[in-house]
Amino acid sequence: MAKYNVTYSCGHEGTVQLFGKADARDRKIKYYEEYGLCQECYKKQKQEENAKLGFLIGGSVADTLSEKGEIQICLSFAGDTLPHKEEIKALGYRWTAVDASQMAYMHKPDMGWVKVVPYEHLEEEKEKAFAIGAKEAEISDRELANQKERYQEMLSEQRIYKRNLRKKAPRDTSENLEKQQMYEEKLRSLCPVEPDVIRGKYWNEKVYGKAGRYSIYPDSKRFEISDEEATALKKYLSDRAEYRKTKKKMEEEGFVLPAWA
Ligand SMILES: [Zn+2]
Repeated sequence: MAKYNVTYSCGHEGTVQLFGKADARDRKIKYYEEYGLCQECYKKQKQEENAKLGFLIGGSVADTLSEKGEIQICLSFAGDTLPHKEEIKALGYRWTAVDASQMAYMHKPDMGWVKVVPYEHLEEEKEKAFAIGAKEAEISDRELANQKERYQEMLSEQRIYKRNLRKKAPRDTSENLEKQQMYEEKLRSLCPVEPDVIRGKYWNEKVYGKAGRYSIYPDSKRFEISDEEATALKKYLSDRAEYRKTKKKMEEEGFVLPAWA
């Protein structure tokens, strides 16, 4: 390995580290001098390209199912993202390496803002991106065909996933049917209904004070409640926790969640 001084095509000088045989090094140096840009000019060129590209949102079918067996979409922003960095972060995107094969519309696919969501959330997530000024990235016919093909592949993976899940499911013994029923009844009895004092409001799930002078802060405003209301709120929280725990347990044991749960 050795360092070489080169004059890039932009006229600026720099050093490059090269490995390999002498003639291969010479070829690389020649390439840098003919086509290469110094770091500053490369950055500038990239920014100009991005500005020209505009602020784009695009999505492609991810090549893995979610843990729950959902087909997923890999959403990413491209182009002039810098001025929107904070908004993008607030939407839950992460700055990460992007898979070039999935990002056909990006100029130099390397790093990007990415978020993976279930397919059902695609439209909702796109709307959020449009709301901060992004435009939908154009997609070529060929890429569209690729996407459709990948979607079909994921559908068949999903069928396999579901089949395996059924294999894991408890057999239809009378014991298991009873257990299913027991679980459903438990869920029904726990089914949490928001008490009136917090319904439709934001509540931090805390009850302040003591017997005779309880209060809560729905929508951040102090509100006095009776002892009965305080008891009901505490029961609501513990029922809800138990309800969620029961649902999780059912899923883990392979029982079917009732449609209303
Ligand atoms: Zn330069």
